[in-house]
Amino acid sequence: LEQQIIVSEKLSAIGKLAAGLAHEIRNPLTSIMGFVQIIRERPLDPDTARYLGFVHEELVRVKNLVSDFVTMSKPSFPIVKPIEINLFLDSVLDFMEGQAALHDIRFIRDYHTGDQDILYADASQIKQVLINILQNAVEASQPKEAVTLKSTIQNKHLTITISDNGSGISPENLTKIQNPFFTTKENGTGLGLSVSYRIINNHNGEIIVDSRLGAGTEFNIRLPLSGILKECPV
Ligand code: ADP
Ligand code: MG
Repeated sequence: LEQQIIVSEKLSAIGKLAAGLAHEIRNPLTSIMGFVQIIRERPLDPDTARYLGFVHEELVRVKNLVSDFVTMSKPSFPIVKPIEINLFLDSVLDFMEGQAALHDIRFIRDYHTGDQDILYADASQIKQVLINILQNAVEASQPKEAVTLKSTIQNKHLTITISDNGSGISPENLTKIQNPFFTTKENGTGLGLSVSYRIINNHNGEIIVDSRLGAGTEFNIRLPLSGILKECPV
């Protein structure tokens, strides 16, 4: 495919600061929404009702953004344990099956890893990464299309490839996808990939993206099997 970038940037300092800020925003936001709700239940002239409707809608947007951000950037120290790769991949795909069905997307399992193959890593963090990338693949695809998850081991590294035949990413956007809050979706938060890059970077891995607009996208997640971390909370 024509575009390729390799990214392993650290975002943790800004991430932690912003997570703290998000926490502080949540309480006043909840109280503002409560008062807006009380006012909306009163008799209002049509213009005021309409404006308050907009206020409410925008508040919901901010609330979603904040809560997504707080959950996804909650700092937690990775716990490295042995993971049976094939069973693990099956469990992630099973978890996403409902989401895929909703979009009428089918998953293809293309494992080149053996049932005995083990990865040392933080399972819940790697699961989060795979969910984020699978979710994007499903969202980018048209009904009846397939999303493929392929696994290979080479030179003591596991590569998990998630590919779709969906909308693709423009060369310009490809340089921005790892930035927190970069989104092209109406209701996106732009946080999934920034968190994913951070997790993989902390596992001494890398994410390589191939994409062509209108043709599809391939996310390659490459991880050392050894599970040696950079030891920072992600
Ligand atoms: P969000 O999904 O909330 O928009 P992400 O960080 O998960 O945030 O993704 C950022 C952006 O990267 C998306 O808005 C989309 O433009 C682009 N993107 C990511 N994965 C894909 C994909 N498989 N196909 C097309 N675009 C993608
Ligand atoms: Mg996403």
